[in-house]
Amino acid sequence: MAAKATTTIKQVLNHQAEHGAWFAANQALFNRVTAFYFGVIQAHEKVLALSDKDALTALEKLTHTTQNNPTPVMPLEEILEDIPALFRRAAINAALGSARSFSSHLQKWRKRKEKAEAKGKGFHERPPVPPRAWNKSATLYAGMWKERDGSSMVMKVWTGTCWSWVKVRLIGRDLPTDADIGSPQLIRRGNQWWVHTPVEKQFKSPGKIEKQVTTNAQTRMCAVDLNLNEHLAVCTIQTVEGTILATTFIGGGRRISGFRKKQLGRIARNRSKTGIIAEGEQDNADLWRKIRQVDEQVAHLVSARIVQFAQAHQASILVFEHLGNLKPEKGKYSRRGNSKRAYWMKGRIFKYAKYKAWHIGVITSRVNPANTSRECHRCHRLVIRYDAGERAEGYTPGTSLVRCPHCWMQGHADRNASLVIGQRLIARYQTPLKEKPHAPVRHAGREEKSSGVALSQEAKSKSRPSTDLAGYGESNEHGTAQDGLLRMDERLSDIPCQLRLPFE
Ligand SMILES: [Zn+2]
Repeated sequence: MAAKATTTIKQVLNHQAEHGAWFAANQALFNRVTAFYFGVIQAHEKVLALSDKDALTALEKLTHTTQNNPTPVMPLEEILEDIPALFRRAAINAALGSARSFSSHLQKWRKRKEKAEAKGKGFHERPPVPPRAWNKSATLYAGMWKERDGSSMVMKVWTGTCWSWVKVRLIGRDLPTDADIGSPQLIRRGNQWWVHTPVEKQFKSPGKIEKQVTTNAQTRMCAVDLNLNEHLAVCTIQTVEGTILATTFIGGGRRISGFRKKQLGRIARNRSKTGIIAEGEQDNADLWRKIRQVDEQVAHLVSARIVQFAQAHQASILVFEHLGNLKPEKGKYSRRGNSKRAYWMKGRIFKYAKYKAWHIGVITSRVNPANTSRECHRCHRLVIRYDAGERAEGYTPGTSLVRCPHCWMQGHADRNASLVIGQRLIARYQTPLKEKPHAPVRHAGREEKSSGVALSQEAKSKSRPSTDLAGYGESNEHGTAQDGLLRMDERLSDIPCQLRLPFE
């Protein structure tokens, strides 16, 4: 089974100074032609009922002068003679895209209007308007470019006075050799010109989870426990039949949290200042942007590390737990804000990891998060949770170690949770009889709201965990010690655990 993935390769152009003006002229012409065709479509709305291919033929008939079509209704020649066919077609397709989008917005607006009027309500929403200004980038169809290699290409552009082939140097990531190359776009960003090329890669799509889990006991899963503490992610590799193969701790949580707290503190101080509001607001916008950028980068780093770990150990399934609801935390502004951002980042890490995993043929799933850290990964009964140097008794949320009073399993709390997360996925595909021992553990106590995550202790049947989205959650203030106890036959990942954070 094959699947496709599309990405865009972005390369900046190194060109002669005067060519910048040519690219600008080329883009201006592209927009004039696109606007022209948008107008033609507005005058012949029936074109929109056709497929793109038939619409292209119809629009060329309406505009393009040939021997067989000497007097088109709206001749394109009025804009410019001798526009290359492939330049024209790229503009027609751009115009069609805009016209389809405009038409669908207009239809939706009309429906809302009719609905409101039928109910006798007033309707004051303005109708969508067609684009007034056009600022599209020219797409270069095959025939408008040639001689492309890793570092240069030749393309045909309108210089403002004539059509000319121009050779440009390309700087940036090379095109992959094993992918289908789409039509490049010539894009202006500030004073620079870029070529964006869509590439489509074929890859073997991952098999369905159920099949992988039920037909091959050696299928490897990478289970991930995402945290709000130092260990942003704790990942374990285990086979379906239960052999634990590797663990990795992805750290950096304390530093990112410290960074955020500092920025949020500054924002709070700016807010409390009076008199210089305008300046304070600008400051805050900058601080927020800084926080957002760092969060985004960390989410990308952590997700990349997770997928790298899964790949290094030939895991074909990635397992997370569903995120609980975010319960607003009490306390100082910086504390509340920080936990909200951390929660948001967990969602991002999941999203990016899922996306990155898919690209290497690894499928991602989520399981019910109820009590994943309270359950023993070996015998599935309640564990004791405590900190190093303390007595092993009771259950203290947020501590770093676990011990099972029933089977004597002991180790790092987050690692235990990660293993339980992986096992829940397998339990989903086992017969109901076998699933019994995995029944969620109940605990009388209530965890502290130390993490800002919902702490529902409700534990329902988890026969279909994937549908239990909300209402589950638990404290994610797991322990912070990195010296989790590992089994003898297990090795720590050789992938470096510490992330180089973007603000350092
Ligand atoms: Zn146990």
